[in-house]
Amino acid sequence: MKKAMNYVYGPIPSRRLGQSLGISPIPKKACNYACIYCMLGPTDKMTNTPQMFMPVSDILDEFDQVLASGIPFDAVTFAGDGEPTLYAGLKELIIELKKRTKKPIALITNGALLSDPEVYDTCMLADIVMPSVNGYDEASFKRINRPHGDIDFEQVTLALKKFSRQYPGLLWLELMLIKGINDSTENLLKYQDFLHQFYMDKLYINTPVRPPVESFAQMVTHEKMLEAMDILKGIGIEDAYENGYASEISDDLEAILNITQRHPMNQHEIEHFLKKRNNTNIENIFRLLRSHPKIKIVHYRGIDTYRIK
Ligand code: SF4
Repeated sequence: MKKAMNYVYGPIPSRRLGQSLGISPIPKKACNYACIYCMLGPTDKMTNTPQMFMPVSDILDEFDQVLASGIPFDAVTFAGDGEPTLYAGLKELIIELKKRTKKPIALITNGALLSDPEVYDTCMLADIVMPSVNGYDEASFKRINRPHGDIDFEQVTLALKKFSRQYPGLLWLELMLIKGINDSTENLLKYQDFLHQFYMDKLYINTPVRPPVESFAQMVTHEKMLEAMDILKGIGIEDAYENGYASEISDDLEAILNITQRHPMNQHEIEHFLKKRNNTNIENIFRLLRSHPKIKIVHYRGIDTYRIK
């Protein structure tokens, strides 16, 4: 059995990126936002200052192991436990990764630090940048993202606007639609107006399909998603329940524990994952998970989601 890694995980099948090898260069919930829909739990490490949370070489060592093992992947994606641009080693890491792989490097970010010239330059190096845009004005921004006190909506917007004009890679914006919070037709028309200022390749429209940190941040209806796609000309992400998972760890229970450190899995995802691996005693794995001291089960919209405590 291969040992679990600390910073590199997957590859995880992604509708957008194929087999996506994940890198999480930050401790759990180090973030400059405390979004109401966050699936990672409360932001207990609120910070707006990039830090060298771990040496770049530690992450590269793990990446080199993956390369040496020959595991195929289609993209390298920065995401995971919090806001990746808060890792002060990100620029050096991307430069080093690009020496090692020709695969695209994608960065999932909230975009709040694009007004910092160092972070701006770092983002320019990635092949795909996926910033979130959830506020169309100061009030909606604060209500949904609950940013660090030093973050100013106008600054974030101006920086993203500039970035969208200069960035040579793929810019995929992502909007989180939340029932009763930002999904009225009036809200959608405000987003339409707001989003016009950015040059983007795609707009993805998401909704909280996994248990959010605030129980009032609920997913929108299918009809609402269709309305948003029509008004905003975006792509709806509604297949989250069907996403598969993969792991290089041979022990099934360990593999699930490793994946849930980054991505909570619901019961269907776990079952699908185990079936794919030809596990013949799926109920036993569920029994072990239910009694595991590290696992917390959250019941949301009729589905059990398993996440690390
Ligand atoms: S959703 Fe992303 S940006 Fe928002 S609090 Fe969670 S980790 Fe931070």
